[in-house]
Amino acid sequence: MSDSDELILEQIEIGPMQNFTYIVGSRSTREVAIVDPAWDIDALLGRIDEAGYTLKAALVTHYHPDHVGGEFSRRKIPGLAELLAKRPVKSYAHKLESDGVRKVTGLSESDIVKVESGDKLNLGPVEVEFLHTPGHTPGSQCFRVKETLVSGDTLFVQGCGRVDLPGSDTDDMFASLRKLAALPDETLLLPGHNYSHVPHATIAETKESNPYLRIEDLKTWHQIMG
Ligand SMILES: [Zn+2]
Repeated sequence: MSDSDELILEQIEIGPMQNFTYIVGSRSTREVAIVDPAWDIDALLGRIDEAGYTLKAALVTHYHPDHVGGEFSRRKIPGLAELLAKRPVKSYAHKLESDGVRKVTGLSESDIVKVESGDKLNLGPVEVEFLHTPGHTPGSQCFRVKETLVSGDTLFVQGCGRVDLPGSDTDDMFASLRKLAALPDETLLLPGHNYSHVPHATIAETKESNPYLRIEDLKTWHQIMG
C-alpha cells in the first residue's frame, strides 16, 4: 500500500483488540518510523528487518496500553518498553501525553521527545507532521504523511474514539473532528483499529460512512454525545 513510489506505508493488524500498527518511511533511504508498536514486538521488528528498513523512531498516537504496551486488565501488553530495549530509538509523544506514556510503559523522560502540533520529523525525504487532536485523551495526536493521515483512536472509518474515559473531553473531540474533516478529500485515513467494513478509506469516503464527521455544530454534537 503506497500513495507514491517514495512512501513506505504498511498497515499491520496486531493483537486481540483489532489494533493497527503502521510502518511509515522512505523507500529511497529505507528509514522508517513505527506507529503504536504493541502486542508482538518481535513480529514487528522481524518485519522491519526482513524488509531491510532502519528503524529511526517510534510514534505514539496516545498512551492507552493497547497502543503503547503496559498493564491492561491485569495482563501485561508488550509495547514501547520492549521495543526500546531491543532498538534504542526515541518515542515521539505529544507534550500533554508524555507523562501518561511514561506511567503506562515505564519509559524514562529521556526516551520521549515531546512534540507539539505542527512539529515535523523527517525520514529521508518523507516528512511526518504531528497534528494535535485531543478528545479521546488530552494529548492524542495524528500523523500526516504525504496524502495520508494516521489517526489513532481519534477517528475511525465509521466512528470516533471513546470520550467517556478518564481524560476524555467531548468538546475537544468535536473540535478535533472538525479539523480532520477539513483535510483534503483524497487524504487516506489510516485508523488505530480495524473496527469498520474496510481497513482504510479516504476522508471523502469517511464523510459518507461516518455520521460523527458530518456533525458541523456543537449543539447537535451535544444532543448526540449527551
Ligand atoms: Zn485509546
